[in-house]
Amino acid sequence: MRDTPPYAPVDALRHTAGSSLEVILKVTERCNIACTYCYFFFAGNDSHAEHPSLLKRDGFLETVDFLAKALEEHQLDRIQIDFHGGEPLLVKPEYFAWMCETLQERLGACPQLILAVQTNAMLVNDTWIELFGRFNIQVGVSIDGPSEYNDRFRVDHKGRGTHAKVVEGIRALQAAHARGVMDDLGVLCVINPDFDITRVYRHIVDELGVRNLNFLLPDVAGSTYGPGAAKAMIPILRELTALWLADTSVNLTFLRKPFQRFLAGGRYDEEMARFRQLKAPILTIYSNGEIGPDDAIRPLAPELFVTGLNVATSSLTDVMTHPDLVAHVHRSFSLPKDCEACCWRNMCRGGELSHRPTADGGFAARSAYCEALSDMYAELAAAAINQGARLDSVAGVLGLRPDELGEEPAAAPSPAMLQTVAS
Ligand code: SF4
Ligand code: SF4
Repeated sequence: MRDTPPYAPVDALRHTAGSSLEVILKVTERCNIACTYCYFFFAGNDSHAEHPSLLKRDGFLETVDFLAKALEEHQLDRIQIDFHGGEPLLVKPEYFAWMCETLQERLGACPQLILAVQTNAMLVNDTWIELFGRFNIQVGVSIDGPSEYNDRFRVDHKGRGTHAKVVEGIRALQAAHARGVMDDLGVLCVINPDFDITRVYRHIVDELGVRNLNFLLPDVAGSTYGPGAAKAMIPILRELTALWLADTSVNLTFLRKPFQRFLAGGRYDEEMARFRQLKAPILTIYSNGEIGPDDAIRPLAPELFVTGLNVATSSLTDVMTHPDLVAHVHRSFSLPKDCEACCWRNMCRGGELSHRPTADGGFAARSAYCEALSDMYAELAAAAINQGARLDSVAGVLGLRPDELGEEPAAAPSPAMLQTVAS
């Protein structure tokens, strides 16, 4: 049985940052490559094959109408549109330019309109770079590390590795940034427990010179990596944390954010409010106009994507009052019961939704990566204290009394001691 939301449906949106919305827009549901672990094409849900390969003009204009109405009705103060696929650069550049122009024109009243692209970078060329600059597009590139790792899974339709071409794209984007043509790119990498994380990190940061990156823990559904992945992640995250702590000028989002919060301090209730503000509801709009929740959980909860909602006939209010989606948003903001006594709950919130599936199709379990995450937070908190964060500030962030972390000016607590407090 799924749990019931404790607040009124539309509050699910108000519950967040004064109204922020992120939309994963499937401008195409086809890809120029065929990564064997792809959740969209190869995780057992073939709905993409029944959808149009491209989001056509009429469908796009209906999407813009939907968003314009949402902006007006909900006074959204931030809208992020992620051009997604498949591979979004498969659309014609002129069509992409028209979509950006239309969005900027029709949603211009939104205080913060962010346009972003998540690409495999295989098709990046001067035309695309000019568009990224002209429309101020945030570009994210997916890569798994050096060729010996990347090319095991990220292959083209003939099974050939894609690394060389991806690196060519990354270099072109970096050169454009150096010329001041566009913002710097970000890189997204899924951690593979079979890979040497130091080798992956050094390749991306040192060899490719990437300064903005994020790592994702692998999805637990379908388990490309086997049941040992969660345990294997403990030393991997510890190693990654140590690599990053040696040079925190690298913007590695999932470590930088908690580290900065430990450094800055804050009270538990303030941190809770901040968490809610940072978390925007995420919708996916497919190439046929259908609306669902965050695409990343589609393999885990395919039934959630049969909403009967479509941009042609529905409004954001319809979305936010849809019982299944409201329950889903509630789950996204709720702490799993197993996590209630954990001192890292404020940072971790039970982990990513896609890592906490339960047998009944819900998401009420703590993260499959719980041990690795708690270990990582302990390392980060100890490092922050060693760098001058006040014990009472760190305790405040964690919702603890300062004396639970030791008495100042006694020696800063070690990660092991913080782990003991957490358990
Ligand atoms: S590039 Fe992305 S969408 Fe295309 S196959 Fe790979 S993971 Fe899937
Ligand atoms: S560290 Fe584990 S118990 Fe703590 S909040 Fe995260 S998943 Fe829950």
